[in-house]
Amino acid sequence: MESDVAVVREIVSAIRSVVGGGRTVLHEPVFHGNEWRYIKECLDTTFVSSVGAFVDRFESDLTGQSGAKYAVAVVNGTAALHIALLLADVKPGDEVLVPSLTFVATANAISYCAAQPHFVDSEERTFGIDPERLRHYLLATTCQRDETCVNRSTGKVIRAIVVTHVFGHPADLDALAAVASEFNTVLIEDASEALGSFFHDRHLGTVGLIGTLSFNGNKTITTGGGGAVLTNNSELALKAKHLTRVAKLPHPWEYRHDKVAFNYRMPNINAALGCAQLEQLSFFLDSKRKLFEAYKEAFNGIEGVKLVVEPKGCRSNYWLQTILLDKDYSHLREPILQATNEVGIMTRPAWVPMHQLIPYKQCLAMELPVAESLGERLINIPSSPGIME
Ligand SMILES: *Cc1c(COP(=O)(O)O)cnc(C)c1O
Repeated sequence: MESDVAVVREIVSAIRSVVGGGRTVLHEPVFHGNEWRYIKECLDTTFVSSVGAFVDRFESDLTGQSGAKYAVAVVNGTAALHIALLLADVKPGDEVLVPSLTFVATANAISYCAAQPHFVDSEERTFGIDPERLRHYLLATTCQRDETCVNRSTGKVIRAIVVTHVFGHPADLDALAAVASEFNTVLIEDASEALGSFFHDRHLGTVGLIGTLSFNGNKTITTGGGGAVLTNNSELALKAKHLTRVAKLPHPWEYRHDKVAFNYRMPNINAALGCAQLEQLSFFLDSKRKLFEAYKEAFNGIEGVKLVVEPKGCRSNYWLQTILLDKDYSHLREPILQATNEVGIMTRPAWVPMHQLIPYKQCLAMELPVAESLGERLINIPSSPGIME
């Protein structure tokens, strides 16, 4: 066995061999298309804010890209999740099943509904919720009451399951959809990281009743800040529009609103950026796949570490390239993070699992050995689409 120092050094030089010398960030956007032109058009026409042609076009482009019947553009991915949960009829006091291995926004959106996150474990194959263990857990701990799933120990309704597609890799959607339907819960997909990823031939975010996307600055395409709600259900799409537009009833001048709602609509200037970015999506996806191939070659034969590959039969967007340390190499995570960041190669660990965070420590949870183990062994490495240029 090689010394730890030698393994760390090999990993640093594997990344170096792909990204070259100099400082390399984890993920930066590329603006090589019509960004300037479309944004200038917003300024020239004064349509910078919450109405404008680019919002409609962006929504329509997103349906074209994803195959979802409807897309509603919103201010960010977190707002999209909040709306998705409200569309699923999540009520105060309800429980929502959610992986502990996710970004904090997934759990926060549940809290915004005054509902309780209930953490479930992930599987090592996809990094998504483990459907088999979830099913056994629900069989052992829930009952059905009036066609809803009730947690027998708390007496609360388990209204929905939110699946996160981690780093753009598809979770096992067929199996998870089957569990959701067996237990009468709504399946929501947090596809924030997954624009351009497919579960077999279905775009992520379109298998569950509702899916969400994010266009934050570090995502596959960016609108500065932004997000979208995807659904095939026309009633839910209308409801999403209404809820994100302060529930204003259509009228040429009157301010009449029929519920307490949200100002979550995406401004036109952000949508303009989004339209230009979406035109380059296939270039971004190609670059990311090429980067994956290059890393695969570079990491080949290094002991103790594997480059993460898309699940079989699925197509990942490879949003963030990821290495996974073998279990008996997990102690190298800190030295690797240290050594890479020290030489200007930006790397990041996976999120601290939600059940270990101060606001979520007290929440309901099943046993979470896989989330805990993955949390200690995953490292994201530089992934910008510009690296391969
Ligand atoms: C980025 C992200 C979000 C939130 O998106 P914002 O646009 O930053 O609000 C939610 N969930 C996951 C998994 C994400 O990666």
